[in-house]
Amino acid sequence: MAKSAAAIARDAALTPVVAPETPWTPEDSAELYRVESWGDSFFMINEQGHAAVKPFGDDRLAIDFVKLIQELERRAISSPVLIRFQDVLQSRVRMLNEAFGAAIEEANYGNRYNGVYPIKVNQLHEVVEEVLEAGRKYGMGLECGSKGELIACLPHLTEEGMLLVCNGVKDRSMLSLILSAQRLGLNVVPVMEKYSEFESLLALADLQGVSPVLGVRVRLATRGSGRWSESGGARSKFGLSIPELVRLVAELERRGKPDALALLHFHIGSQIIDIQVLKRALKEMTQIYASLHQRGVKVRYIDIGGGLGVSYGAGHARGEAGVNYGLQEYANAVVYAIKEVCDVQEVPTPIIVSESGRAITAHHSVLLVPVLEGHRRGGPDHVALPAEPHAAVEALAKILDNVRNPDREPEELIEAYHDIEEIRIEARTLFSLGYLELGQLATVEELYWSIARDLLGRLRPAEIDPTPAEVLELEEKLTDRYLCDFSVFQSILDHWAIDQSFPIIPIDRLDEKPDRRALLVDLTCDSDGKVSHYISAMEDKTFLPVHSLEGDRPYYLGFFLMGAYQDIMGDTHNLFGRVAEVHVYADADEPDNFWIERIIPGAAIHEMLAQVQYFPNDLNRRMSDIVKRKIDAGIIRPTLGMEILGQYLACFNDTTYCDARPAPVAERAG
Ligand SMILES: *Cc1c(COP(=O)(O)O)cnc(C)c1O
Repeated sequence: MAKSAAAIARDAALTPVVAPETPWTPEDSAELYRVESWGDSFFMINEQGHAAVKPFGDDRLAIDFVKLIQELERRAISSPVLIRFQDVLQSRVRMLNEAFGAAIEEANYGNRYNGVYPIKVNQLHEVVEEVLEAGRKYGMGLECGSKGELIACLPHLTEEGMLLVCNGVKDRSMLSLILSAQRLGLNVVPVMEKYSEFESLLALADLQGVSPVLGVRVRLATRGSGRWSESGGARSKFGLSIPELVRLVAELERRGKPDALALLHFHIGSQIIDIQVLKRALKEMTQIYASLHQRGVKVRYIDIGGGLGVSYGAGHARGEAGVNYGLQEYANAVVYAIKEVCDVQEVPTPIIVSESGRAITAHHSVLLVPVLEGHRRGGPDHVALPAEPHAAVEALAKILDNVRNPDREPEELIEAYHDIEEIRIEARTLFSLGYLELGQLATVEELYWSIARDLLGRLRPAEIDPTPAEVLELEEKLTDRYLCDFSVFQSILDHWAIDQSFPIIPIDRLDEKPDRRALLVDLTCDSDGKVSHYISAMEDKTFLPVHSLEGDRPYYLGFFLMGAYQDIMGDTHNLFGRVAEVHVYADADEPDNFWIERIIPGAAIHEMLAQVQYFPNDLNRRMSDIVKRKIDAGIIRPTLGMEILGQYLACFNDTTYCDARPAPVAERAG
């Protein structure tokens, strides 16, 4: 439907995201979407107004997302697609190790850093292998938190002395396997989460005739900070109290094996917001370590757990800021806090172990999602009234004329909003009681939306402070809906589950001013299938500034920082399966600075169905029966029947997302 020039002008006036005077630049977009705060040194907007990744975390080389998408389209890879930048993963491993290296050198710390990668953050085999490869020269190890993870980790301890820390609740078979690994000469340290676990371990070790090496998770007085401070991951309920620790040490001394206690561990939660909390925990832990040394128990490792934070962009909907430190500051804080206590207590410094997962993996994967359709809210410019308008229609038509009168004050406009709300509710009641016919109700709806749009267009520039609840309500109601080809539950579970905001930006047209406000909704039929808060410089975080869709031109959104906890999670909600995955490597000798190493297709429909016990053979038989009956009954001709059956069967191999991407339809009023 062609829009009148007036309508276009009014829409533009309706959603001015920024002042229109100066031409919009890519820098403006970077500011609007806070790219610097979450992009770290890895993401940027280039001069063409395209989002780009800098895989090495510096300015050596950049890969343009628009070029990447063109290449994927050329290879007919279906969207949505998850891109893994293996170089980013390597860079993060390097940066973490170098940060600790620099801190150790600067502080003249007498020992070394030994990072371990907690595989629960992203268990994908390629990710683990990539991390280990990048970490080899730093002696990087692994952390596991369950039997399944132990089974996955053990065969990767290929380097001499490589450390594997085993956290989580361990049953007898897991403890027994760990003891066997120790007998193989592997550096596997089970961390005692409960005193009873220690007793089981001793009993099993006695049975095998070996003396175990172990660590202890200590329950500290210092409480965590941030989202996980209370829940502390599910594991915060674990850890030994100080009396239990003393009892454990006494038992080891009684056995003449005090040095069996090799490691002290704490984990104050993921995404530590405030570094002061970490420093307090470190000092407390190092005091315990020093006391043990003075008692003759020569613990070798202090394991500070995970929690190294990632900035997802400040300005969370709940007023939660980003982390208040960077990588280097974190490493400095750890090294200096431990050294300080050791110096005062005159004990040797320990090997520092950290279990950073999020900080290593978050940046490396990006989900690219096409917008399928933009749904613009607001009624038509001219509402045609029925021949005999109902009283409700007449009342609304009068209000419409009224609010278009430029002399109306904001208070009068807000009053008008109350009125139209009331009339709309009444009209719906009348309809359900049979007193209002469908055509009249349709007109009521059209008038309601037209008035609502006009009201907001007038109220927004009035900038009433504080913003009245009515204006916020109108903003929410009139935000565009952009339908995206993905599932919140499959791809950004933490958004739904724990309100985590992820940076989302258009990857193209960033040299154009975003002129619309959108709420992103997914393909699931769930009312929760939407992104409800966004990272932007706007005060109101309930919408994403976006561009108007242009005819057939594809419009992709990039979902960033997907690599930690998100991209391997996901259930089979609405039977949307795993999305297609592409592994990209940076290479300056390639024309566009990248090459694609590996493509993993998204889950096919038959795979998803099999998970819930529907199998192609059975479905085929049932569908054939139906078609045959229709042919027998003369409802369709056999050739058409067979065609339809073929069409049905072919769908088994489709991906679970919208494969042949429909062109974005022109925005519709509604
Ligand atoms: C989850 C977890 C980690 C990883 O934490 P990040 O915040 O991702 O670094 C490390 N150690 C333990 C014990 C954990 O439970």
